[in-house]
Amino acid sequence: MAETEPAPLLGESTPPPPPSALFHRSLQQQPAKVISAKGIYLTLDTGRVVIDACGGAAVASLGHGNEEVIQAVAEQMKSGVSYVHSLTYTTDAAEELARHLIDGPQGGGRFGLTRAYFVGSGSEAMDSALKLARQYFFELGQRGRTKLVARRQAFHGSTVGAMNVSSNVPRKVPYANFQLDNISWVSPAYAYQYSNWQRGETEEEFAQKLVSSLDNHFQRIGPDKVIAFVAEPLVGATSGCTPAPRGYFKGVREVCDKYSILLILDEVMCGMGRTGTMFAFEQEGIVPDIVTIAKGLGGGYAPIAGMLVHQKVVEVVKKGTSSFNHGHTYQAHPVACAATLAVQRIIARDGMIDNCARMGRVLHALLVETFAQAKYVGDIRGRGLFWGLEFVQDKALRNSFPPGVLFAARFQAIAFELGVAIYPGAGTYNGTRGDHAIVAPPYNITPDELIKIVDTLKLAYDRLEKEIDDSASE
Ligand SMILES: *Cc1c(COP(=O)(O)O)cnc(C)c1O
Repeated sequence: MAETEPAPLLGESTPPPPPSALFHRSLQQQPAKVISAKGIYLTLDTGRVVIDACGGAAVASLGHGNEEVIQAVAEQMKSGVSYVHSLTYTTDAAEELARHLIDGPQGGGRFGLTRAYFVGSGSEAMDSALKLARQYFFELGQRGRTKLVARRQAFHGSTVGAMNVSSNVPRKVPYANFQLDNISWVSPAYAYQYSNWQRGETEEEFAQKLVSSLDNHFQRIGPDKVIAFVAEPLVGATSGCTPAPRGYFKGVREVCDKYSILLILDEVMCGMGRTGTMFAFEQEGIVPDIVTIAKGLGGGYAPIAGMLVHQKVVEVVKKGTSSFNHGHTYQAHPVACAATLAVQRIIARDGMIDNCARMGRVLHALLVETFAQAKYVGDIRGRGLFWGLEFVQDKALRNSFPPGVLFAARFQAIAFELGVAIYPGAGTYNGTRGDHAIVAPPYNITPDELIKIVDTLKLAYDRLEKEIDDSASE
């Protein structure tokens, strides 16, 4: 088409390139184009090199361009088995990945999680978990169990099902009338903003208060009507790497058990080693009935997610109809499973989860040293290589910036310009107010790389602090 177009008249400027045919997240801003990637480095079409300090959304657990994974994908493709339907067929790639995640030294088998189910995204994994939890009670003849309870300030996915249990307010605005009425939410386990810190409430007291209010919530609904309680062990994108107070999940597990309510843990973002142990729940001393995993699972080499299911749930389905009334065309996709198996074998072989815990301590120390005194950094929280900075306007009051300041978005933009990509979030506090940034580098990051990342983030922060102070004094 370009050849038949008349040449621009003299003095006329060259017309702008046509808009992208891709339906981007924003129809105004064209995202940066990446042309190659290796380890923690992304090369843009402008020639600029950016350090990927967040693996997208805490996805790239192994860094980019790993040769062994590329090899594994090529071999799976070369076998010709790039796709078969899971109703009729299985593959070595899917079987071995499940075996690794269940029976491997850091697998779910240690906790009675005995079956793995693979899908293409975290949202699909959450939908699968919700449906399996309902089917569990259907098989048991407890068909009056129809309700789900989740927490405010949590994200569980974008499909209509997963969105329904999510409470991430901004992501639901146009879809209010898609909301099912069998879902309700309890208070988030988010001590920095929701504990009574003004009165010196301790972590244990806060945890106990939340557990009692969950119990009361179940009683109000009627505990024999509830299917499951859904929670992220560490809240990811919504509030920025927020761990629960000590003792909270132990209490939650007890309350669920008291009423035979299932516990579904969403480890889509915080699982698969990201917090320094394979599962985030290991550090809470509890075991879920179903856990969903995704982002770090395939490390971004393939779209893959999964759920690991406890023996107790598997047995009930087996004794009942014996088949999970659910499925996806691309479930247990052979190429995705082959890529993921390679990623997980490398992580296990090279002791990368331990390295994640070790480098996590380095990153934590660097962040505290660099930002603890910063005027607008209210909280530094996380585990492993999953750290969040919460930005506030007034540290003494823990007040968020007005949303119009766009603190997190501006912080991200400046850091990106200076060569470091982090994952920003707004609405941290209550869905409309609050700002945070997530740092989540790959598990094989080095101390020198961490220093470079944190130094650059400090430059970005200082520039933004000055911009904000200058505009306030104008
Ligand atoms: C990203 C995320 C999801 C959704 O995963 P997708 O792959 O984007 O569908 C669900 N839960 C949590 C906690 C997440 O961070």
